[in-house]
Amino acid sequence: MLRDAPRGCGSRERLIEIEGKLPERGAVSADTDPLEAVKRRVYLASLAISAPSLPLLWLALRDTDPFVNFAFPPMALFCAVVAVSLWRDMAPVRAIERITFAAVSMFAFLHLIHGLSTSENLTELRGASEVTTFPTLIVLYVIAYLVFDTSDGLRASLLLYGASLALVLAGAAANGFGNLSGSEISWIAQTYAFMGAVVVLLYATAFAKTQLSRERTLTEAMSHLALTDQLTGVSNRRKLYMDLHHEIESARRYDHPLSVILFDLDHFKKINDSHGHDRGDEVLREVVKEISPLLRKIDHFGRWGGEEFILIAPETTLDRASNLAERLRHAIANISPENEITASFGTAEHTPDDTPESFIKRADEALYTAKAAGRNRVESF
Ligand code: GH3
Ligand code: MG
Ligand code: MG
Repeated sequence: MLRDAPRGCGSRERLIEIEGKLPERGAVSADTDPLEAVKRRVYLASLAISAPSLPLLWLALRDTDPFVNFAFPPMALFCAVVAVSLWRDMAPVRAIERITFAAVSMFAFLHLIHGLSTSENLTELRGASEVTTFPTLIVLYVIAYLVFDTSDGLRASLLLYGASLALVLAGAAANGFGNLSGSEISWIAQTYAFMGAVVVLLYATAFAKTQLSRERTLTEAMSHLALTDQLTGVSNRRKLYMDLHHEIESARRYDHPLSVILFDLDHFKKINDSHGHDRGDEVLREVVKEISPLLRKIDHFGRWGGEEFILIAPETTLDRASNLAERLRHAIANISPENEITASFGTAEHTPDDTPESFIKRADEALYTAKAAGRNRVESF
């Protein structure tokens, strides 16, 4: 029976995975976006809510607003294409969101340019753009940090901010700066001071979140390093001690069985001496690889030291532990029969008075008996 990988196995892969995910300083995301599925759902829900308003607005306003008349049908079509692409998983979310960000930005700027070219003065432009262009820009500043990493998000929002300010000032210049009324000057100043504050606040929030996520990932990686055996990728002695304490506590509290299997490779020195230390290392990794599929998810397996390994088996009586040890012994003996790689096993079951040390000591004594009795065998205390 193939069981789930036990705790402690695969830490090496996990560590590589963590290192790969570690964001660069100041960046929110790496190449793979872990939020892909969530984003897909959120974007679909947002589209489902907002897209139906486009045809309705078009029907209501097309006769009075030429921009609505021309721009809304292609925009509605674009939304439909985006929705289908997200729904049918036709393209990576990363690509879809970038294209959508560019399209919505273009839409907002076209509206602003249209407003500038059809308004007599800034007061008229204000009326035409205050409820559309500027709120859209603010939404884009927020979305920039979802679509891009922190530094690109800042670049995108500064670009939108700068370009829209340049357009408004160009519009004002076209009518002559001297003709600006006090309320128009105050409107430009207030609008851009507010949007500037939004840009800075959003950047500060995104930056703080990035740092936090980086610290968290680093802490996770460091803790894995501290608890993992570098050569084989399984739990090291420190982690196994922690697991043992925890399982003893649990076995005592719920009066459940708990066993340990301690094993040591036989005449391992000979393998090093005759095939070299590298081959010895390889054998240690092969042992871990062969044994891992035989363990349950609730087991804790790791390297106790040198060529000695331990399996902490919760909910396991001595008889069952000995049977499992037999299976492990067979698996090791089959790794490379010509090189006679074998191991001797000692098993012990937890008693209510046990400390971790006394528990392991009994398994160690059983292992010693197995060695003394000729090796490649299982002994129970
Ligand atoms: P026994 O059957 O009595 O256990 O004999 P043994 O040769 O396995 O035991 P001994 O304690 O004499 O030697 C253990 C050897 O394991 C010596 C040591 O160099 C080797 N060893 C310990 N850790 C490593 C390791 O990480 N890599 C390699 N290649 N060898 C190791
Ligand atoms: Mg040995
Ligand atoms: Mg040894």
